[in-house]
Amino acid sequence: MARKLFVAGNWKMNTSLAAAEDLATALVEGIGSVKEVDVAVCPPFPYLVAVGSALGVSNIALGAQDVFYEDNGAYTGEVSTMMLKDVGCRYVIAGHSERRHVIGETDEIVNRKVLQALSDGLDVIFCVGELLEEREGEQTLDVVKRQVTRGLEGVGRSWTDGLTLSDRLTIAYEPVWAIGTGKTATPDQAQEVHAMVRGLVAELYDSSLAEQMRIQYGGSVKPANAADLLAKEDIDGALVGGASLKAKDFADIVRAGMGVRK
Ligand code: PEP
Repeated sequence: MARKLFVAGNWKMNTSLAAAEDLATALVEGIGSVKEVDVAVCPPFPYLVAVGSALGVSNIALGAQDVFYEDNGAYTGEVSTMMLKDVGCRYVIAGHSERRHVIGETDEIVNRKVLQALSDGLDVIFCVGELLEEREGEQTLDVVKRQVTRGLEGVGRSWTDGLTLSDRLTIAYEPVWAIGTGKTATPDQAQEVHAMVRGLVAELYDSSLAEQMRIQYGGSVKPANAADLLAKEDIDGALVGGASLKAKDFADIVRAGMGVRK
């Protein structure tokens, strides 16, 4: 069966309460009834409740940008899976490059977050991607392979209700040099890594799971480049930062995905 595209917006540490509500409302008006593409937005923690209520019963799902790997307790500043579910989140991002490289999250921490989120019923957008010097040093495939392998350590293939890992987890390939820089990987550069990741998922699990696994591309995706990226056979959607803060741009990226047969 063809993979359905999945486009998610990562608002990062942006917006105010009013701006977040306005953005969500505009998205509902523009693309709230889209069914051909799965759509989610990930606002900052303090705005999850308000954005969730603005999204209402639309087809746009709510996600969070991060989560902690313990259930509750003395972890000042952290947020649990239960809290995210409580405020209506379906998705959570794990291992975003800004958490890896600005905050210092290791593959092991990312792995713990992936495990915790999946076990507790949150669907995961699991991010991987190489730094500029790693690409220039021709280490891209090795780095991404390591991140995927370690991030998925101990993560099972099958989940309750007959779901498989591909129903619960999306991999986002995001070359760090392309995030927020305006530099996009070319569709061919992205496709090469996506194909490798799919092959790796087949090795780690099996080819049928790999065929179902959605792999998003992220890194300066915009309305102008979305269609070419999404046309690639192993690119199954986008994780969008900057352009997700403009309702029209994000909606245009989602619409670009609607024309793509998967
Ligand atoms: C991101 O934050 O995941 C991202 C891809 O950002 P941008 O689209 O701004 O490059």
